[in-house]
Amino acid sequence: MGHLYLHVPFCARRCSYCDFSIAVRKRVPAGEYVAAINSELSTLVARGVVASGDVLDTLYLGGGTPSLLPADALTSLLTSLLDAFPSTPSLDAVDVTLEANPEDVTLEHAIAWRRAGVNRVSLGAQSFDDRVLRWMHRSHDAARIGDAVGNLRRAGIANVSLDLIFALPAELGRDWARDLDLALALEPSHLSLYGLTVEQRTPLARWISRGAATAPDDERYAAEYLQAHLRLTTCGYRFYEVSNAARDGCRSRHNMAYWSGRPYLGLGPAAHSFDGGARRWNLAAWEAYRRAVAAGRSPVESEEALSDEQRELERVYLSLRTDEGLHLTAPYRLLPSLTVWAERGWVEVRGERVVCTPEGWLRLDALVSDLTGRHATA
Ligand code: SF4
Repeated sequence: MGHLYLHVPFCARRCSYCDFSIAVRKRVPAGEYVAAINSELSTLVARGVVASGDVLDTLYLGGGTPSLLPADALTSLLTSLLDAFPSTPSLDAVDVTLEANPEDVTLEHAIAWRRAGVNRVSLGAQSFDDRVLRWMHRSHDAARIGDAVGNLRRAGIANVSLDLIFALPAELGRDWARDLDLALALEPSHLSLYGLTVEQRTPLARWISRGAATAPDDERYAAEYLQAHLRLTTCGYRFYEVSNAARDGCRSRHNMAYWSGRPYLGLGPAAHSFDGGARRWNLAAWEAYRRAVAAGRSPVESEEALSDEQRELERVYLSLRTDEGLHLTAPYRLLPSLTVWAERGWVEVRGERVVCTPEGWLRLDALVSDLTGRHATA
């Protein structure tokens, strides 16, 4: 099991578009959190889910807002994780990513994170427009993003990814080209671009239902997505996945493991795991997870064994998300859809593989459904 995900559920407040499983806390219960993770991990070691020969390749701390964890809690966590994988020589050999919000990235924190073993930070920038950031209920302003990148570099963390959100409602007047320029000026090694989606029970959904905001629009989504492709590609980034672009050598090793269908282990509330044949997921609410672990009960909420058909559907979907594309084995090779899609410029057939173009990535679900006769749910 070389890929480990740790879900840190705490946030200072809820962003207007977010429906993730989070616990809004003024003060992060760091001691309880570290104890719960250590307890879940020990059980998995005792059951042989984590074997002494397993070598950790990637470790991803996502959330929530992992950067809210105090430095000593983070250090203690990473030390126990490394202890649970005794065949891993050191954290220097592991791709250790921390998701961070810009307001948490002081120089002092960045130095402590680097000392703890973090060597990659994914920064939730979202926009460089203060008005837009306030609308999103983000806790940072635009100036904090540049400060954060500077502090990370001074602390020795050069591998920095920026998250940006596009396809915002037209009435915000968000200048996407300007945001891309300002992001590129910081020279991140990696960028993740996500189109705004409206999730139930979020402030955004309520604003839309009472007419205070307009719903995201497909045309704007497509135009901004293609604009970003052109801009980033011109600047030397390669889109290696539908939402992710990187400079050479800077792809996210952790996310590549997901997209290649490799097994991974998730710890913490709402974390998912996959052992190659079955997927399981933990209780999503922090308190329910904490109580289960404290009482010595399994925090797993449910699991499903994937049928051959589900695994094939997932393989097709995940392959087409990346620039590796799908290996054209039977029964896909002769499907008329592929010819039509290639004629329209939505896919390219390269030898034995079919790879989506940016136009094709905009239609990924439809292509998967055309190829397999099923709707992708992965
Ligand atoms: S910081 Fe991230 S996880 Fe927390 S509320 Fe905002 S979008 Fe959701």
